[in-house]
Formats: sequence, structure tokens, C-alpha cells
Amino acid sequence: MKKDIRRSLVDYGKRIEPLTSGSGGNLSARDPDTGIIWISPTGIACHDMKAGDLVGIDENAKVVSGNGRPSSETPLHLELYRKRPEIGAVVHTHSVFATTLACLHVEIPAVHYLVGLAGEKVPLAPYALFGTPELGKAVAETMARADAALMANHGLVAVGTDLGAAFNLAEQIEFVARIYYQCLAAGKPALLSCDQMRQVRRRLANYGR
Ligand SMILES: [Zn+2]
Repeated sequence: MKKDIRRSLVDYGKRIEPLTSGSGGNLSARDPDTGIIWISPTGIACHDMKAGDLVGIDENAKVVSGNGRPSSETPLHLELYRKRPEIGAVVHTHSVFATTLACLHVEIPAVHYLVGLAGEKVPLAPYALFGTPELGKAVAETMARADAALMANHGLVAVGTDLGAAFNLAEQIEFVARIYYQCLAAGKPALLSCDQMRQVRRRLANYGR
């Protein structure tokens, strides 16, 4: 199990570059058997990291496996695992359109049905300094009812039951962020109603099964 999780982190690490604009971006997954959280190291780009570079930590950020130092955004990852015991993976990116909206302090409303993958909307977490427990707390509170959030003046974070789900969500939310930005630039987007979003969420839940 441990090996598979690490291989999966390496594989998704290679695919994260288009979502990170060359800087930022980190990912982690929790081993359900051991509770160990495997996270990308600091100082090595995600697309370059190998399984041996991954750092295993416990819920208090204590390194239990690996030689490197865990990602500087470890407090963000840990706070999400703490607040959301059901999740198995966290993906954090600086993808361009999500970050653009985050810098405008604009959340993403129900502008496209795929917003339903995250929740009723993609909320905006208030600004806090990168790498701090305060940022982790602000984001985790914002994500009590959403699986993705924009981070003010920073980027995007997505969670899922496993790495595939969290990564797919980060990609889809970057897509809807782009659509929303373009809609705002071109005119006034027509939003889906609460009823319509409820139908979407029901169908997405069935679709996932
Ligand atoms: Zn970041």
C-alpha cells in the first residue's frame, strides 16, 4: 500500500507542472493503513521528485520516513487532514486562472455544472501568510463544506478520497476558474440556480459510484 501511494504521488507530481506555472504546488496522500501522510519534499520540484524523495510524516508533522524536509505548506495539508478525517489526499497549486480570481478576492459561484464537483460553489479562504498554521486553519475552515477553495492572493487547494480525485478536482476547478474569468471579462455570466445545482450534485454523486 505504502509503495503504491508513493508511486501515485510521483506520477501525479509529473503531471502537476501545467497547474503550478513553474512555481509552487505540492501534494500529499494519507496511507489509510498506517495513518502516515506522504508529502512532496521542499526544494525539489514535484515533476522531478522520485519515490525516495517523498517524506512520511505523522499528524504532528514529525518526520517518520525519508531524508528530506517536508513541503513548506505542510501545516496546510495537516490542518485539512485534521478537519476532514474522510479525505485521503490534498493537492495545492498556483494554477493561473484560479490564482487570478484568488487575487481578485472573488469566489467561483455556480457558473458551470462542474463547480458541483467542489460543492455549491468554490469558496475563497481569507489571506494568511504562506506556510503558516494560520493559513491552514483559514483554508480548512473555509473547506468545511467544499472540496476545493481559492486561497486569497495565493492559489488553489483541492482534496479528495484519493490522489486521483483530488488531482482531477484541481484540474476541473482551474477549468471553471478560466471559464468564470472569461465570462466576467465578456459580460455577466448566467448562474445555475440552487435547485439546478442540487440536481447536479445528486447526479455527480451517482456518477461517482
Ligand atoms: Zn502555494
